[in-house]
Amino acid sequence: MTDQTNHDVLLEMKDVKKHFPVKQSVFERVAGESQKAVRAVDGVSFHINRGEVLGLAGESGSGKTTIGRLALRLLDATDGQVILDGVVLNDLSAEELRRTRKRMQVIFQDPMASLNPRMTIGEGVGHGYKIHLNSDPAAVRRAVLEIMEKVGLTPADVLYDKYPHQLSGGQRQRAVIARALITRPDLIVADEPIAMADVSVRVLLLDLMKQLKEEFNLTYLFITHDLATAKYICDRIGVMYLGKLVEIGDLRDIYGNPRHPYTQALLAAVPVPDPTLRTDDPPIRGEIPNAINPPSGCRFHTRCPIAADICSQEEPVLREVDGEPGHFAACHLRTGDYKHLDPENQDATEAPPQ
Ligand code: SF4
Repeated sequence: MTDQTNHDVLLEMKDVKKHFPVKQSVFERVAGESQKAVRAVDGVSFHINRGEVLGLAGESGSGKTTIGRLALRLLDATDGQVILDGVVLNDLSAEELRRTRKRMQVIFQDPMASLNPRMTIGEGVGHGYKIHLNSDPAAVRRAVLEIMEKVGLTPADVLYDKYPHQLSGGQRQRAVIARALITRPDLIVADEPIAMADVSVRVLLLDLMKQLKEEFNLTYLFITHDLATAKYICDRIGVMYLGKLVEIGDLRDIYGNPRHPYTQALLAAVPVPDPTLRTDDPPIRGEIPNAINPPSGCRFHTRCPIAADICSQEEPVLREVDGEPGHFAACHLRTGDYKHLDPENQDATEAPPQ
């Protein structure tokens, strides 16, 4: 699906897994039970082209935030490779990783938690610049004031000496964006970057991120639970469910022709400003299952409205949707060998798969 030698590819994840071991009880150890693990990410592959915005969407517990941390090597993968601009991050020493860090930055959801309350805004924004680029105090101050102006944190010379609690929520998120940009990164992982902002400033922040992307030639991995937000900023969207990537494609294909029933359910959950279109039926039933013991076969089969017997027996793989290059979905009934069982596909002949 991806090509490491393609120079347009900035980030590539190759069959990446992250399993968190679960502490065993004394009883389980005595009984000789095998070590259990939360399979937060379980064999995910995708790439992001330079200058692109790839959205990762899914419910809590789908593994999207873990993917973001793996992409930055804030977490080490259990298996698979994370490749930034041709460099396999898994193989880097601590010193090599430190040098690479300036090329990839993160914007977390909660600016209050990600800014050091004991540092002024100027100190916090300039910290990465001081470590990675230039420790001269005058140079740091110049760079900080310049980036604060760029992100609309003005008057910069006044806000420079303020502490995070003295700023509004929107200003704090701008400070986090400034801190991420000051090292002139190539890749930004934005993890629910507007989820904690007031509704009134969300669009302003998204517009700012779009504008900065053009100005600084950035590439974003944009993590969100909200497909409406993803639509505003993303070029492509990947949909995660219980540690698996179940669908990925261009924005137009994902919104215009979603093939995976989970993607369809997420899109049906997006609110529409028309009371006549409201329905009391939940688009998806039940809770996301436990990632320690995920369902067999297709992990979505316990909640899927069109599941067939095969779904609990065999795991579907990502396959390209007919006539839509770059659009992949992992569903036996939509892209696999069992299309004749799809209730949407009444014309299909009942040919059992080979
Ligand atoms: Fe539903 Fe089966 Fe497709 Fe999974 S493979 S999404 S259970 S129809």
